[in-house]
Amino acid sequence: MKISYYNGQFKNDDEITVDYNDRAFYFGDGVYEVVRVYNNEFFTLDEHMDRLIRSASEIGIEDLDRSKMVEIVTQLNKQNNISDGSIYIQVSRGIGKRNHAYPLDTKPVVLAYMNETARPTDQMEEGISAITAEDYRWLKCHVKSLNLLANVMEKERAVRAGAHETILNRQGIVTEGSSTNVFIVKDGVLITHPADNMILNGITRLEVLKVAELRNIAYEEKTFTVKELMEAEEVFITSTTQEVTPVIEVDGEMIGKGLKGKVTNALQEGFNERIHKLNLVK
Ligand SMILES: *Cc1c(COP(=O)(O)O)cnc(C)c1O
Repeated sequence: MKISYYNGQFKNDDEITVDYNDRAFYFGDGVYEVVRVYNNEFFTLDEHMDRLIRSASEIGIEDLDRSKMVEIVTQLNKQNNISDGSIYIQVSRGIGKRNHAYPLDTKPVVLAYMNETARPTDQMEEGISAITAEDYRWLKCHVKSLNLLANVMEKERAVRAGAHETILNRQGIVTEGSSTNVFIVKDGVLITHPADNMILNGITRLEVLKVAELRNIAYEEKTFTVKELMEAEEVFITSTTQEVTPVIEVDGEMIGKGLKGKVTNALQEGFNERIHKLNLVK
């Protein structure tokens, strides 16, 4: 039996009903996080909580109680006893009759549940294929918003093309994937889009940059083009669930040798050490 949480209550999963006036439904009016669980413990929970509070604040939800949120996820983790998996946490603006303007006196509504999920070990070894597409999302991509219409449409485009991820670009500048950050290796240097309003600054992205620092792998947070992507020595994507996954083919063309690259491998090793709490540097 799975225990989940909605609007103040812990319940068996199949007993949860949600309020149809929850603004998450009408407007995607809220924010969310996905946190990985390894060996029954949250990985980088503080960072995810910080980002959740920040995302909420960016959309004008200012009264989130961080310690309460931590209590909810800690409770769920105790009650569900998931060794390898993740927790999904969403915060909507609240409940109120459908109206674009915010309802008066509404309180944020929290939804949270856990999933058992294995690490994508095959993909991390063998790599995945991706396609490219135009990034037509809004200009607040740094907010982890529930509004994911463009992201789901672009992910579906990848699936229909028999690929795994869609790598987005604005006027030829690669931003990120539909649910992942994108890195390339060019002339031995690791490059990823700067953390501005055009991308969601992934916690995994930041972990990878810390690993690069620790292992003396040169990196730059600067923009790169689709052309540079196609001609890169290595390409990989990162996210909480995808970890560090090589991209070996883009738009049907092979990247590098079509295999996981050396830099990607070193970063995977370093990331693994962090999961197992070795080499932890803030
Ligand atoms: C969540 C997300 C990521 C990855 O962030 P992580 O914190 O590493 O999971 C990247 N891009 C988008 C659009 C996302 O929503």
